Amino acid sequence: MAKKASKKDVAQLLKKWSQQFAVLAPSRESGVAAMAEWDGKDTSFLEWYRNTVVPPKASFLPPMEEMFRFHKDEEGYQIEPPSRNGQKQLVFGIRPCDARAMAILDMTFEDAYQDPYYLEKRKNAVLVGLGCTNPCQSCFCTSMGTSPTDPTDVDIMLIDIGDHFLIEEVTAKGKELLAKTGGLKEATKNDEAEAKKSRETAYNKVSRKLDTEGIKDKLLDSFDDEEFWSQTAAKCISCGICTLLCPTCYCFDINDEVVKGEGTRFRSWDSCGFPLYTKMPMENPRSEKWRRVRQKVCHKYEFYPMAFDVIACTGCGRCIRLCPVNWDITQVIESVPEKVKGAK
Ligand code: SF4
Ligand code: SF4
Repeated sequence: MAKKASKKDVAQLLKKWSQQFAVLAPSRESGVAAMAEWDGKDTSFLEWYRNTVVPPKASFLPPMEEMFRFHKDEEGYQIEPPSRNGQKQLVFGIRPCDARAMAILDMTFEDAYQDPYYLEKRKNAVLVGLGCTNPCQSCFCTSMGTSPTDPTDVDIMLIDIGDHFLIEEVTAKGKELLAKTGGLKEATKNDEAEAKKSRETAYNKVSRKLDTEGIKDKLLDSFDDEEFWSQTAAKCISCGICTLLCPTCYCFDINDEVVKGEGTRFRSWDSCGFPLYTKMPMENPRSEKWRRVRQKVCHKYEFYPMAFDVIACTGCGRCIRLCPVNWDITQVIESVPEKVKGAK
């Protein structure tokens, strides 16, 4: 049975959860909206928050992360594991598109390969979703198998029903946490009806649509169409924003920083949009910009469906909102040519 909480009581709810978790909530403290450690009092984000610029993936795959330290002694190099605080995270207010992105990242970091750095944080986290009431013009989540209030990929889901939030337990983890959280009222039939209305209204506000029918095969057929990819890439300035801030992108680089025999190995976000990303001693297989743009599009809409049977794009719209030259992935997907079988 769903619960409910007054919007005025959200601070109290977060305070309770803070006793058990490091609570992350939307913040603009650094000038850019991101999930940041909650300050213990401010819930003004409930007024301004549409979505964060920096996606919540940053809490699980940080922009820069220490992997281990090392030092050299008479027996050679010695490895020290990274210091961990082991604190559990509760991400409050994650949007359904970004929660879906986490499920997509799990396919790479858990199913294809077990990444201990990512998994330690992911397994210890609780995702509390907050349904969108005001999707952006650039959002197209309803075309990508999710919606502004989809609870599928969170542990607990909050739906705006006016002065209150309807609170749904989604997973066993969410159920357990809500059972331990005192002070929540039972939702009434009327609250459930309000939540249904709120869901329908939000769904209908997502006006941008994208038809992805057959896109994997169309991209496969168009892979060598240099003219199409050159046109598609023409205005891109390779700034990397659309990949660094995409909630499903995960390219990273690994470096060592060594001073007098002591060092740190760390990984940091990188982008397939950068010319140096694939540079090797003898050659660079993606030296031309069109090859890099093709990689970005095909990785999401062709390679990921081939590997995991899912498109690695959730329609969050960040790459459209944040691109300095108005490059638009929905226009690109819609313009992939339909090849006639057997034609070159
Ligand atoms: S944000 Fe725009 S300009 Fe920058 S790499 Fe992406 S498509 Fe190119
Ligand atoms: S490709 Fe664009 S719309 Fe799709 S998940 Fe990434 S940033 Fe969002």
